[in-house]
Amino acid sequence: SSVINRIAAGEIIIQPANALKELIENLIDAGSTSVDILVKDGGIKLLQITDNGHGIHKEDLQLLCERFATSKLAKFEDLESISTYGFRGEALASISHIARLSVVTKTKTSDLAYKAFYLGGKLVGQNFNTNAVAEPKPTAGTDGTQLTVEDLFYNMPSRLKSLKSKNDEYSKILDVVGRYAIHCQNVGFSCKKYGESHQALSTRPHMLLKERIRIVQGSAIANDLIDLESIKNKDHAKLVGLLSVEGAITSSDYMNKKKVEPVLFINHRLVSCGPLKRSILAAYYFFLPKGNHPFIYLSLEIEPRNVDVNIHPTKREVRFLNEDEIIEIVTDLVQLTLSSHDS
Ligand code: ADP
Ligand code: MG
Repeated sequence: SSVINRIAAGEIIIQPANALKELIENLIDAGSTSVDILVKDGGIKLLQITDNGHGIHKEDLQLLCERFATSKLAKFEDLESISTYGFRGEALASISHIARLSVVTKTKTSDLAYKAFYLGGKLVGQNFNTNAVAEPKPTAGTDGTQLTVEDLFYNMPSRLKSLKSKNDEYSKILDVVGRYAIHCQNVGFSCKKYGESHQALSTRPHMLLKERIRIVQGSAIANDLIDLESIKNKDHAKLVGLLSVEGAITSSDYMNKKKVEPVLFINHRLVSCGPLKRSILAAYYFFLPKGNHPFIYLSLEIEPRNVDVNIHPTKREVRFLNEDEIIEIVTDLVQLTLSSHDS
């Protein structure tokens, strides 16, 4: 793998949780309803994601990790209206430049599953043998896809050194999984450490939102939630939101033991938006003492063409058109909700 490719990949994938986020988005795009995640050494040694989505066709495996290989962009105009962020075709390519990536996948129409190995953007022989014939091998398997990422940053020793402890990286992974588990009503998530039988997190499809929050954030928060008044179809925007009233997040409740970031999804993608977050928190602290750490979940759907997803391939920070207006609407709602609760 060329140095340039590696550097580019290392800018997209800074830490194991970034790789996981990309893989989660892919399996959601693939229509999965169930996913199991296995993590070893904070995701550095192993990240394994098993889904029950539509799988990958055998003929697509050859070029799966080529840059810009994507099944999600039929024609150029789609760029305008694409409703997923997953149109860049860069995630798997990037991961294959800085880790050992293997895939077992089966589509419903195929009798067999196929196993394929990738290094440096290219399909290689079985078990990463670069001398063997580079082709997918038929194998037994169930419908869906299992992606295995091993030895992340094995060829970037300085990046490896700059990572936080395995436990910190694991916390970040659980944080990402938890956010998607809260947001995705149709997908059951499970996540555990390699070698442990105990699931760190486990949800089932079609659980109620509050139930999912209970599992991820604990009962203190789940019992303390109020719904945000919702706006529907206002200026083509739709919003669903929940916030904790007392700011009941305590360190024992929250596995990360750090200040809680609002769980913010825009068009079903996990994002951050600094200005929106600051504005919500300001509204919140107007009613509640500073130092409380509210739990906030917001899912905003707006016209895809009003979201700028291209700031940076995997940076979560987004910008959108009419941002001030939307921030104002959301902040007003938070204020309204909290003030009517107060009285
Ligand atoms: P993008 O998501 O931007 O298309 P990726 O590099 O993330 O690019 O993925 C490349 C392609 O691999 C996807 O377009 C999709 O066709 C396929 N793919 C990746 N993960 C999965 C999965 N879990 N299930 C089915 N197909 C997948
Ligand atoms: Mg993707």
